[in-house]
Amino acid sequence: MADINSDKSLMEKIVSLCKRRGFIFQSSEIYGGLGSCWDYGPLGIELKRNLKNEWWKAIVQERDDVVGLDSSILMSTKVWEASGHVSGFSDPLVECKKCNGRFRADDIPDAKICPNCGSELSEPRQFNLMFKTFMGPVEDAAAVTYLRPETAQGIFVNFDNVVNTTHKKIPFGIAQQGKSFRNEITTGNFIFRCREFEQMELEFFVKPGTDMEWFQHWLDERWNWYIKLGMNPEHLRFRAHPKEDLAHYAKCCSDIEYLFPMGWSEMEGIANRGNFDLTQHSTHSGKSLDVFDDATNEKYIPYVIEPSAGVDRGVLAFLCESYCEEPDKDDTRVVLKLNPRLSPYKVAILPLSKKEPLASLSKEIYSNLRKVFSATYDDAQSIGRRYRRQDEIGTPYCLTVDFDTIEDKMVTLRDRDSMEQIRIPIAEIESTLHAKLGF
Ligand code: ATP
Repeated sequence: MADINSDKSLMEKIVSLCKRRGFIFQSSEIYGGLGSCWDYGPLGIELKRNLKNEWWKAIVQERDDVVGLDSSILMSTKVWEASGHVSGFSDPLVECKKCNGRFRADDIPDAKICPNCGSELSEPRQFNLMFKTFMGPVEDAAAVTYLRPETAQGIFVNFDNVVNTTHKKIPFGIAQQGKSFRNEITTGNFIFRCREFEQMELEFFVKPGTDMEWFQHWLDERWNWYIKLGMNPEHLRFRAHPKEDLAHYAKCCSDIEYLFPMGWSEMEGIANRGNFDLTQHSTHSGKSLDVFDDATNEKYIPYVIEPSAGVDRGVLAFLCESYCEEPDKDDTRVVLKLNPRLSPYKVAILPLSKKEPLASLSKEIYSNLRKVFSATYDDAQSIGRRYRRQDEIGTPYCLTVDFDTIEDKMVTLRDRDSMEQIRIPIAEIESTLHAKLGF
């Protein structure tokens, strides 16, 4: 069987499934849509939240050397001056002299020739990717502020607050999830490159000299996280940035790339940023951001290791990874073989009839289960169609309530992947699901 990730039409199938089943819609769709902005529908938000929760659990909850933060999107302009974003967060923009197409010079095969019409392109000019806006009622230079292009800077400027309130000692990290905004020149590939997106970033502060060990630690941790959630290792690879591509302050950087339908592309970047950020903020703000080493009685500015993951790219990768088409009788069964931890619903309750007494009993089971698992209820159309609908959105288990249930107090539990069906007592639904799901 051909590897589904080399199927060029996979992206179209996923975009269509996402729209049809309420995972992802285009922003402002009834007005014709807004470029590269997307809305997560009822199922998409469940998937996205589950992915974010898994990250938070692995990075913050299960470790005692990482704490969380939720900093504001709008920050002082001085933050972006110190971080280098005002002067340097730009991409080389080229424009076609004939068709007026705009491209990122480093994204096209030849920076002089238009990939659309073959005409001559302008010389590249640096285009700052930050969205500019104004704070307060006056739209002048003094009121300029930016929508954050990354969540990381909110962490650096709170470093001192967190150290003083938690008394954490190096090595320790601060984690944050949240929206970031970039006025990208070239967009596309669905939610891969958006202008508004979400990041999950960890800044892990370490003693200089131990940084390469910690860099390796985070490469391993992040790789294993994707594998644990169901990624095929053959669809993942590290790409170490060559020295000449590194930002001047970064010691090294490796991306975790996923084999998306459009080819290998970055899903997460892991960088050793040295002490650049804290040094910059210390210099610009005048506030000392160094820490005291009890062992050597010395002060130093910590180095930082940054695993920075895109939520939307993660969602897209897990959708691609889990999408399966299986021949079934004269038809094709579409299944999202998502890890149940990521599935929008863990269980669907399907009464064989809409009528009493099945309806009341099914609703009672549904109402009890909902308190424990994210669950859904479907009583429309044939049971075969209902199984298909749940397969397509990745629900790992279906519970069918039939006429025998009234007598024997048993329901049928159907497994998404094997399609195997077993009868279990109503009283054991919850414990059976816990055992099968493993949580
Ligand atoms: P690219 O080279 O693809 O533009 P980047 O190297 O600029 O990405 P980083 O600044 O390292 O990206 O951001 C960290 C992570 O944030 C990326 O690995 C990606 O998952 C996510 N990300 C960055 N830009 C976007 C975007 N425009 N849309 C969706 N996710 C993004």
